[in-house]
Amino acid sequence: MTDLHRLSVRELTEGLAAAKFSSRELTEHYLKRIEKIDAQIQSYVTVTAEQALAEADAADALRKAGGATVLTGVPIAHKDIFCTHGIKTTAGSKMLDNFISPYDATVVAKGKVAGLVTLGKVNMDEFAMGSTSESSYFGATANPWALDHVPGGSSGGSAAAVAADLAPFATGTDTGGSIRQPASFCGLTGLKPTYGRVSRFGMIAYASSLDQGGPMARSAEDCAYLMNVMAGHDAKDSTSVEKGVDNYVANLNSTSVKGLRIGIPRQYFNAAGLDADVKARVEESLKKLEDMGAVLVEIDLNMTESYVPTYYLIAPAEASSNLSRFDGVRYGYRAENPVDLMDLYKRSRSEGFGKEVQQRILIGTYALSAGYYDAYYVKAQKVRRLIQQDFLKAFESVDVIAAPSAPTTAYRIGANLTQVEMYLGDIYTIAVNLAGLPAINAPVGFDKDSLPVGLQLIGNYWSESQLLSVVHQYQQATDWHTKRAAIAEENA
Ligand code: GLN
Repeated sequence: MTDLHRLSVRELTEGLAAAKFSSRELTEHYLKRIEKIDAQIQSYVTVTAEQALAEADAADALRKAGGATVLTGVPIAHKDIFCTHGIKTTAGSKMLDNFISPYDATVVAKGKVAGLVTLGKVNMDEFAMGSTSESSYFGATANPWALDHVPGGSSGGSAAAVAADLAPFATGTDTGGSIRQPASFCGLTGLKPTYGRVSRFGMIAYASSLDQGGPMARSAEDCAYLMNVMAGHDAKDSTSVEKGVDNYVANLNSTSVKGLRIGIPRQYFNAAGLDADVKARVEESLKKLEDMGAVLVEIDLNMTESYVPTYYLIAPAEASSNLSRFDGVRYGYRAENPVDLMDLYKRSRSEGFGKEVQQRILIGTYALSAGYYDAYYVKAQKVRRLIQQDFLKAFESVDVIAAPSAPTTAYRIGANLTQVEMYLGDIYTIAVNLAGLPAINAPVGFDKDSLPVGLQLIGNYWSESQLLSVVHQYQQATDWHTKRAAIAEENA
C-alpha cells in the first residue's frame, strides 16, 4: 500500500487488527517517507530505524499470538524532551548533544506497554524555551505548509512530523503553549491536559509547576487514542494526581455541543495584536459551533494584561533552578581543559547553553535572589492565583472558553522578532498553564497566505474528555482537520 500515511489512527488500529497490513509494513512505510521527505522538513533529530523495525516485528508476533491490544504496532514520534532508554535525548541542546538516558520517561514506557513503535525523536526549541523551534542546537524545522516558515514551538518537530505525514501522532509538552501553538501553526489538533494528568517523570524539566505532556495528532479522535496511553497517575511524579482516567476514545461523543455554553473573553478578541484573518477564522468556527447548538456568552477575563509578565517571571525562575543540574560534572556537555572547578562550571554552562536559555537562567536567578524574591517571585505567585480565580469565576457561567491559540499564523524562519514580540505571541496560551487547566487546539481554516489557523478551547479541571468530544463533533461536521500540506501528499 502506498497511502498508509493517509490513514487515521483508528483506521490504523482497524487495519492492523484485520491484518490488512503488518506493523512492519507500516513502520517501513513511515521510515521510507522520513528518509525521502524529512530532508526538507528537518523534524527528526534522531531516527531509530533499526529499533523501530525490531519493535514492529515484536508487535506483529504479539498480534499473531493473540496478545495485541488496540495500538499494538502503531508508530509514534517522541519529542526529544522525553527520556528514551538507550537512545539520545537532547532537549534540543548542545548541553545534551550526546546524552543517552539510562531509563525511559513514564510516557515512553507506557507507549511501549501499549505496543507503540518509536520512529524517532523530534526537534524542539532548546529546553522547550521558545515559540519557533529555531533555538534548537540542531537547527530550524520547516513548517510543512510553507517551508520558509516555522512550525511553531517548542514542540515544532512533533507538529511538523505529523503535518508532513512522517508520523501518525506524536508526543509534545506544553509549559506555556508548546503543544497548542505548534498545532495551530501546522493545522493539527493538540491537547494540553490538566496539570497532574500526565506524568512528568523522565520529561526534562523546564518549569516544573507548568510543564505538562500531551498528544499531538491530526484529529481529536487520534489525540484521544494517544491520551489513553499517556494519562494516569504515576508514583514517580509527586505532582501526578491520583484520579481515575477516562477512556477518551469511548468518550468522544460524551458531550453534546447542543446547549454547550462557550465563553468569549472580550479582552481576547479585542486585543491589538490579533491578526484579522486569525480573528475571522476563529469567529467563523465559533459561528459553526453556534449553528451546531452551542450558546456563545461574552465574558471578562480581567487579568489578561498580567499573563505575559507573570509567566515570564515564574517560568524563568523555575528554569534557573531546574537547569542548575547541568554543571559539566555529572553528565552532559563539559568544557575542555578547565583551570579549576569554577572555570569548569562557567564554561560548561556558557558553551553548552544557547542564548535564549542563558537569558532565562539569568532573569530567573535574579528574580529568585535575596532582596528581589519578595518583590518579583512572590508577587508573581500572587498574581498567578488571581489569574486562576479569574478562570474559575468564568467557569461558573460557561462550560468552555474560546480563544485563538496564537494571535498570528506561523512566522517566517529567521523573522527575528524582538523578545517582547515573541513573548506577546504566547498571550493566549500561558494563562492556561499558570492556572493548570486543560486546553485544546483545533484547526479551523487558513489565512490569506494559506497558513493554518487554530481555535483554542479551554476547559475546567479534568475536562479532557469534554474538550476532545466537542472538537470531535466539530470535526465530524467540518473538514479542516483533513486538509494536508502539499508535501504530505508526496509519496515516498
Ligand atoms: N513559548 C513559551 C516559552 O517560550 C512556551 C514554551 C513551552 O510551552 N514549552 O516559554
